Amino acid sequence: MGREATQILSEVFGYRAFRGLQKEIIESACEGRDALVLMPTGGGKSLCFQIPALVRPGVAVVISPLIALMADQVATLRQLGVRAEALNSTLSSTDQADIERRLRSGEIDLLYLAPERALQPRTAELLGELPVALIAIDEAHCVSQWGHDFRPEYMQLAALADRIPDAPRMALTATADGPTRREIVTRLGLRDPGEFIASFDRPNITYRVAERQGGKQQLLRFLEEQHRGDAGIVYCLSRRSVEETAEWLTARGIPAYPYHAGLDSELRQRHQTRFLNEEGQVIVATIAFGMGIDKPNVRFVAHLDLPGSVEAYYQETGRAGRDGLPATAWMVYGLSDLIRRRSMLEESESGEQRKRVERAKLDALLGYCELSSCRRVALLGYFGEELAAPCGNCDNCLDPPDTWDATEAARMALSAIYRTGQRFGVGQVVDVLRGKTQEKVERWGHDRLSVFGVGRDHSEAEWRTLLRQLVARGLVDVDVDGYGTLHLNDSCRPLLRGETNLELRRPVKKTRKAARKTAAPVGLDAEQRRVFESLRETRLDLAHEQGVPPYVIFHDATLQAMVVEHPETLAELAEIPGVGAKKLERYGEIFLGALQEALAEATQ
Ligand code: ADP
Ligand code: ZN
Repeated sequence: MGREATQILSEVFGYRAFRGLQKEIIESACEGRDALVLMPTGGGKSLCFQIPALVRPGVAVVISPLIALMADQVATLRQLGVRAEALNSTLSSTDQADIERRLRSGEIDLLYLAPERALQPRTAELLGELPVALIAIDEAHCVSQWGHDFRPEYMQLAALADRIPDAPRMALTATADGPTRREIVTRLGLRDPGEFIASFDRPNITYRVAERQGGKQQLLRFLEEQHRGDAGIVYCLSRRSVEETAEWLTARGIPAYPYHAGLDSELRQRHQTRFLNEEGQVIVATIAFGMGIDKPNVRFVAHLDLPGSVEAYYQETGRAGRDGLPATAWMVYGLSDLIRRRSMLEESESGEQRKRVERAKLDALLGYCELSSCRRVALLGYFGEELAAPCGNCDNCLDPPDTWDATEAARMALSAIYRTGQRFGVGQVVDVLRGKTQEKVERWGHDRLSVFGVGRDHSEAEWRTLLRQLVARGLVDVDVDGYGTLHLNDSCRPLLRGETNLELRRPVKKTRKAARKTAAPVGLDAEQRRVFESLRETRLDLAHEQGVPPYVIFHDATLQAMVVEHPETLAELAEIPGVGAKKLERYGEIFLGALQEALAEATQ
């Protein structure tokens, strides 16, 4: 190739040079080889199939999961004078017939198809009769059941490709860990593919994560101080919090629009168009928003709630700063949304194996939140990429957090993992450290180990944080498919030998008012009222999730008593009228967390 592709790059696309791995990928496709392409969002995946589509004879078939995304790419290509079309259900039958005619007479270079469309016998037949330059499968992680975006239609794409055996196949994605990668190759039937894995680093994105202390206020401060007038996306977990946050921001002078699957589609479309077409708009959304949003000048992506995994976080934050200019990925996290995520997970229909994977993924994300070291080093490490030095462009690099020396404690933990035979998960290791005489501890004789009870000075929560940090920093490996078994990793040696230290972030002290002893739930003052309202929100979210009226969860009087009594533990919560054993088990942690946060927010 060479000349021709480079010429197309400059003459058609107007770019001077290929970026990163583009050149190698394009060369390989032009030669007719299959390929797996992993590039971060904004990395420039599209050119990797668009140029071979123009170099090779025949039409290039591009499978893409979203009509909006296709429309966008087709429009962009047409602007460049490229003959591109999308076949989808929104077209009239005359238009479809016209596209088919032009396909047969070789007048189309790129044909975009949704997977369900590509699988229709009629389409498959048509494609079987045409010279096909290549088959590109965008967002290829949708084929993986371990990925976070599984789409059953994707599973059948290999069958389609088999009808066109001569065309090279290219699978492209911005998210894929090792197992997902392997699944893509097998399920799409890639034949000895070249694997092109670009650096996932997005150096222009500044990563910032803080403990939640009145999330919306923190968000407002962040926007006012760093992103006044900028376009950005705010992600929330529930539809309700999407709507409330949008309203709340708008009332404070930041134009923000809600977007979630429950809004009527016309309204949703209007909000999306406004976000894309006007300057400085903020969209508040559930994860339903974003796939296929190519807006280059998104200056920030904010998470008011934790996403489900590091992959999801990285994909969502990757929507910021595609134009290469400075952008921020900002997130707050709190105990309560972690607990909510966990309980959503426990109550889901997935099998036990799957739940274990999800739990491990959530833990990895929490480990990321709690880091006191460079976030980019950890993020890239998660995707198997090593960064030689701290990045200088994340909160921990820019303003190093307050830390404590956890070296001694870390050694105790490593030793407990080792002495128990590297055969147990976090729960058992913590019980041993804390000297708890549980049945399972005694059965294994762990109460006779030298490490038994050496860690009584730290709480269970502190030990869990510490273990998560050992995992997040790659000093300890966790067995994802099994039972979360912890194993020492070679890189923990310097720590054991006393050659390095481990510094951990000091938890932010929550401000709270002295508990009031008046028990009468009548007449709350203004501050208590706010706390009460936020407990009601928590209750309403739970009620929506289960499709029951809110009072079935807890009565108002019970919530009011919580506001007045400030229970801090499950035992104290059990004392509140209306909190029975079953409800304590199901909702106890959620409400304790929500209460703690609401109190912190109210006293700011
Ligand atoms: P992805 O699909 O990987 O998220 P895109 O293909 O949408 O990324 O590319 C992101 C942006 O980078 C687009 O605006 C695209 O035009 C631009 N781009 C891609 N390749 C190059 C290049 N070689 N030189 C300059 N800009 C490029
Ligand atoms: Zn850093």
